[in-house]
Amino acid sequence: MEGFYSPDPVFRMAARQFELLADHLEIPQQFRQRLIQPKRAVTVSLPLERDDGRVEVFHGYRVQHHLSIGPTKGGTRFSPVLTIGESAALAVWMSWKCALVGLPYGGAKGGVSVDPNLLSPGELEKLARRYMQEMIPFVGPRTDIMGPDMGTNAQVMAWFMDTYSMHAGHAVPEIVTGKPVSIGGVSGRRESTGRGAVFLIERALDHLKIKPSGCTAVVQGFGNVGSVVACGLAYKSGMKVTGISDHTVCLYDPAGFDVAAADRHVTQHRTLKDFPQGERIPADDFLTLPCDILVPAAIERVIHASNASRLRCRILAEAANGPTTPEADEILDKRWDEVFVIPDILCNAGGVIVSYFEWVQDLQNFFWTDIEMTDRLFRILDAAFSATIKRSKERRVSTRTAAMAIGVERVLTAKRDRGLFP
Ligand code: NAD
Repeated sequence: MEGFYSPDPVFRMAARQFELLADHLEIPQQFRQRLIQPKRAVTVSLPLERDDGRVEVFHGYRVQHHLSIGPTKGGTRFSPVLTIGESAALAVWMSWKCALVGLPYGGAKGGVSVDPNLLSPGELEKLARRYMQEMIPFVGPRTDIMGPDMGTNAQVMAWFMDTYSMHAGHAVPEIVTGKPVSIGGVSGRRESTGRGAVFLIERALDHLKIKPSGCTAVVQGFGNVGSVVACGLAYKSGMKVTGISDHTVCLYDPAGFDVAAADRHVTQHRTLKDFPQGERIPADDFLTLPCDILVPAAIERVIHASNASRLRCRILAEAANGPTTPEADEILDKRWDEVFVIPDILCNAGGVIVSYFEWVQDLQNFFWTDIEMTDRLFRILDAAFSATIKRSKERRVSTRTAAMAIGVERVLTAKRDRGLFP
């Protein structure tokens, strides 16, 4: 499926997944381009005066995939390898995810091609504000709502909200989610993606009739998502977390990590680099460690044709977006009775669900209790899990195909019902 974004390998992966699904659902050709090609994309140049006086120009992107059922919603990533094609792929996955869990959003994604670790706090603030300033004509609480993603956090969201609000002349908290509670954020948003993933892992274990206590888990990535998953599996589910990693190091300890100590270490030192527990192992061996639960919670395409047959887990819980390539899926489909996959659009949906709660509360200026939010989050995830399992069994397809099919069909129905504007 050729198009503007096709040169990008991550977008090609999203398009390939969609093409396979469209064949499975027998979607007419006339709808395929309309469904996969993003509606809008913006590229901006962001000049930044560094602390030493040099002016450097960074590139920022925002891709809005579809606006058929409401505004778009999606994270903002600050990463040195971010491209417009990767943003487009992440926006597409976000659309299927929102539709799967029944949120009235299309998907969006974007960010800045920059390594935030190489910026001073002042430089980061200037770049974040400049990015939002450039995006003001294209985003809005009814058009496109941003949230955090890799390399951004509640503070960055606060700067976005402030920049947008200064332009509007009044506070507009509903322009972003994942912001501090003091300006209309909700408590537990940072933890929501990880908590949702832990809930679904427990749900999958229950489905497979396996008791969580005594299970082992290996978690790739120790950021917003990975650290919360690791702590949840250790302290809530009673598992032994035997592998933890980030972009600097992969660590293995069959006795189980003190993940709270690892969390404190990362809060203090930013990475796991000098964390004193466990054996350092090569990155290539990390995902194939023996475990009950394997949780990729970092970047895309880490499970591919060369390692999919060597995974030694019972459950693959995809907390990251797009961790598994279509080639690996083909292999995992054949291993369906060995490896149970909780696909990304389901596994990490907790984040966007709680973001949706935050947006709804900001629009209404009416705030719910933490218990109401947690209860609603788990109900939505539970329903989406059950619907995925039901469809997977009935149609004899993988859990990924089942979850994507539910999402894509909902978007297709909306587009069909609205018709084609002349
Ligand atoms: P983050 O920036 O907080 O953390 C990313 C982690 O991955 C860091 O520990 C980093 O060191 C590690 N990492 C980066 N490259 C790596 C590599 N090559 N090998 C091993 N580890 C590597 O990001 P996050 O918010 O935790 O996001 C992680 C994943 O979860 C992304 O795919 C993101 O799109 C997805 N996600 C996040 C949210 C959210 O609410 N934050 C919601 C849905 C999905």
